[in-house]
Amino acid sequence: MSATEQPIVLELRNLHKQFGDTPIIRGADLQLRQGERMALIGPNGAGKSTLFNLISGRNAVTSGEILLHGRHIAGLSPFQVNRLGLARSFQITNIFPQLSVWENLRVAVLAAHGHRHAFWRRLAALDAINRRTDEVLRLCGLQGQREMPGGALGYAGQRALELGVTIAGGAGVLLLDEPTAGMSRDESGQALELIRRISDGKTLLLIEHDMEVVFGLADRIAVLVEGRVIACDTPAAIRSNRAVQEAYLGTLGVEFGS
Ligand code: ADP
Ligand code: MG
Repeated sequence: MSATEQPIVLELRNLHKQFGDTPIIRGADLQLRQGERMALIGPNGAGKSTLFNLISGRNAVTSGEILLHGRHIAGLSPFQVNRLGLARSFQITNIFPQLSVWENLRVAVLAAHGHRHAFWRRLAALDAINRRTDEVLRLCGLQGQREMPGGALGYAGQRALELGVTIAGGAGVLLLDEPTAGMSRDESGQALELIRRISDGKTLLLIEHDMEVVFGLADRIAVLVEGRVIACDTPAAIRSNRAVQEAYLGTLGVEFGS
């Protein structure tokens, strides 16, 4: 099956969000297909993080629709949206500094499955939790820091751990908000590999400022300007899109048509 024939897993329809009298999201439309990696780019203040807050249930929408696997999710709580298979990471690191790397991941695995008490109380279930924790540890590349307190990791390590926490529940749709923010060139290169690995077989929507990461990873790129998606296309098409050039890429020195 080619990418365009894959089912749509996440869809935004004419989405609006106002804070007080100020419209921030102003009729955003977007469709993500199963298994694709999409980058969401756009100027600071365009509303990218707000869009994530709406999708993940953190902020209430003003109007419009959000569909996850064909189901309307606008109005659900972050917990409910997460239960339906969507996980998001934040711009800020969100881990327990005193707990070891492995314990941080185990807490996240438990949190994701803890509601099924009857099942998880059994001994076999503890085994399954530990195996899943080991698997997430491997995926986020922190085997060597297994026993280290989360707070003792370097910056890139903490971001990797945070990605581990995000994927621990096994969500099929991942929203990552600027996972390489504040990283050196080397670190973002490694983060790119990590994101590739953890999103393998999943559907990814990634807010990212580093254009090397964007063009190196994305199957498609959506461009958000003043609360609207002005273009959503392949990297090559986005690069040569004049409206995108004028609204955004030109200001970053990404060259027209190259
Ligand atoms: P981006 O992530 O694209 O840089 P944001 O979504 O963070 O942009 O912000 C878009 C605009 O919405 C900004 O002007 C910001 O100040 C405003 N905004 C975001 N969240 C809130 C909020 N909770 N209350 C009021 N204004 C907000
Ligand atoms: Mg943001």
